[in-house]
Amino acid sequence: MYSIASFRDIVDQPYPYLQNLKNLQGKKIVGTVCTYAPEEIIHAAGALPVRLFGSDSAIHRAELHLQSYCCSLVRGILEEALTDRLDFLDGMVFPHTCDSIQRLSDVWRINLKKTFHADVVLPVKLTTAGARQYLIDVLDRFKADLERQLGREITHDDLARSVKLYNQIRLLLQRLYRLRCDHPEVLDGRDYHTIIRAAMIVEREIFLESLTTIVADLEKTVMQTKPSHLKRLVICGGICTHPDIYEAIAEAGGVAVGDDLCTGQRYFDGIIDEALPPVEAIAGRYIRRAVCPAKHTGITSRGENIIRTVRQCRADGVVFLLLKFCDPHAFDYPYMREMLERENIPSLLLEMEDQSQAAGQVQTRLETFVQIL
Ligand code: SF4
Ligand code: SF4
Repeated sequence: MYSIASFRDIVDQPYPYLQNLKNLQGKKIVGTVCTYAPEEIIHAAGALPVRLFGSDSAIHRAELHLQSYCCSLVRGILEEALTDRLDFLDGMVFPHTCDSIQRLSDVWRINLKKTFHADVVLPVKLTTAGARQYLIDVLDRFKADLERQLGREITHDDLARSVKLYNQIRLLLQRLYRLRCDHPEVLDGRDYHTIIRAAMIVEREIFLESLTTIVADLEKTVMQTKPSHLKRLVICGGICTHPDIYEAIAEAGGVAVGDDLCTGQRYFDGIIDEALPPVEAIAGRYIRRAVCPAKHTGITSRGENIIRTVRQCRADGVVFLLLKFCDPHAFDYPYMREMLERENIPSLLLEMEDQSQAAGQVQTRLETFVQIL
């Protein structure tokens, strides 16, 4: 069983943990790059789905394959692969989402042949009459691909067990999210971020067991902590690769009480209906869960979602965390800001590229924003 501190060690250095699982237990490791990767199916195949998060190293080799206007997340993942740091992977799964991920998939297919490679071509528009059946067909084909590649049949019971496990994890993460919204003083923002990242790396059975204890312990501390009167913020963006943003917000006199992030609510939003056949039920969750800008459920869906999140979290403002060259989020930003303005909800846009930025100019901008609130 793991504590938050041991989750932090794994999140900071995931490769030794994953290599050990492979060497000692013969675990198959499958890399993913997006929250639309059907983790339940990968897990049901006996493999561990692992979300990859760019690179801490300078990017050289990836520059030869991807234009510099691809986001640093995608270039970082490719750099890690081209420099053989991801050799423990047995396969890679690329959901059909933004252009950068699609280009990464193409480059991977041609240049990195050591592992199996799967594109999961989900529909862009999730609300059309045919979208549900199309999704089911795509997921069924992916399941068959995985069975062939990993040499293991995925039975109905395997899938049902994985769906149940993921539902338990998502319910607990939702409980943690609500706890942080109601009592942000009980869990540091960086620790919240660590737990969500760990959910995408650690063996899921052990993660569930550990998180059950962590959440129960945190709930017990509520009575012993003083309520926070800091300015309440919602963070909105793709994935957050800047955990120091939570400290920067705290130093500025604020606290993050909610989010619309892939390293946040978007990862655990939506519960899979266990009464339905598993593949159909997984498809159903993709249609219902909080949408990302690379998918479409309506022209103003994301704007409505951020306003709902602000209301539910009783937030004072929104911080848009935009990764440089992330076009899908950049395209959504103007209309979302306008919708917030119409509701008198202040927002701040922070464009980030690498981790060092959160410490400098970002701090000043956050302080000014929090003072205005
Ligand atoms: S923002 Fe969308 S495309 Fe990007 S990682 Fe998240 S779910 Fe995937
Ligand atoms: S959604 Fe944005 S941040 Fe995520 S992979 Fe695509 S371009 Fe990069």
